[in-house]
Amino acid sequence: MANVDTLPIGRASAVIPSGLVFEGVGRRFGRKRALHDVSFEIKPGEVLCLLGPSGCGKSTLLRLIAGIDEPTSGRILMDGQEISGPDRFVQPEMRGIGLVFQDYALFPHLDALDNVMFGLRELPRPQRQEVAEVALRRVGLSAFADAFPDMLSGGEQQRVALARAVVARPRVLLMDEPFSNLDKRMRDMVREATITLLRETGATSVIVTHDPEEAMRIADRIVLMRDGGIVQVGSARELYRNPADLHAARFFCEINELQGVVSKGRVATPVGCFAAPELEDGTEVAVCVRPQGIYIEGPGAGIPARILQRRFIGPVDHFEIAVGGMEVPLVARIRNAPPFERGMDIGLSVDPAEVLVFRAARP
Ligand code: ATP
Repeated sequence: MANVDTLPIGRASAVIPSGLVFEGVGRRFGRKRALHDVSFEIKPGEVLCLLGPSGCGKSTLLRLIAGIDEPTSGRILMDGQEISGPDRFVQPEMRGIGLVFQDYALFPHLDALDNVMFGLRELPRPQRQEVAEVALRRVGLSAFADAFPDMLSGGEQQRVALARAVVARPRVLLMDEPFSNLDKRMRDMVREATITLLRETGATSVIVTHDPEEAMRIADRIVLMRDGGIVQVGSARELYRNPADLHAARFFCEINELQGVVSKGRVATPVGCFAAPELEDGTEVAVCVRPQGIYIEGPGAGIPARILQRRFIGPVDHFEIAVGGMEVPLVARIRNAPPFERGMDIGLSVDPAEVLVFRAARP
């Protein structure tokens, strides 16, 4: 029998994680195509974020993994075995998958300890209690064991839900917007605690979010989705440095967008001329300049411009800058900016490494 004192207190016990493969997975609701041609792989033990705007199909994909819903085309494999598809459907409770929902889905009539014990239904009661107590201690909630959900803050409820999910030692843990109901300070705290716990258990984790910064902080890899399909799969660095298209670039950071036309492999803009490799002459493009790629000096150096607005926002100063030939002000984020204030004429330059050129998006 498990003994609380012999269990590694302060550390979650590790599991054997599963790998998942998606082969041409689709889900239709009548005429509505919620997912189409979804093909990618999740490695055992990987922490992966499904990222995308509202309605892009993230939760639908999560439900298919859990087995709460079935694909209308394609198949899903777990450790090489089909779990959803034309040949086989494995019932949700047989998949070894844990779930944490946005609203935590705690049982209101059970206290925190009993909620966690629910995740251990197959064990004898004394053992369930010991293991659940360790799990609550692990998420810092020992003192709340007999509190009911309505007596707990959002962050505490989330931690109970997490303890309930990991205590069953799932091979795959699915989380649907798990931090979205928390205020920023609580979100940062709970998110760090959650990630530590996920890394300790080693479970393959799939986390749905619409927040790019959150995805970048959490994930080994990010699956960027749009309109039911996958736009790009990669590490935070890959997606940020080399976004697949203009929408992906917009999703990851604030950008200045300038229009232009390719000529001899380059595109001229009011803030400089930039390389546009692999695009034919005459192609209409969007030139994206990251706000942190703009530098300012005194007048006479670089492109003539004028400061319209300057705001201190902590680590950087946020500038709006008028440049001849541009209809909208250029936004710049500058660390240790020179003492130039609103109304002053300046010279401006752009770091080409912070510029991306894409085929113009269709309106
Ligand atoms: P959000 O971030 O807002 O939760 P999401 O990316 O998780 O969005 P899904 O919930 O997966 O998006 O929904 C994808 C699309 O499928 C949406 O257009 C949604 O309206 C539709 N959809 C989902 N479930 C159903 C259903 N049961 N019946 C009809 N349409 C559905």
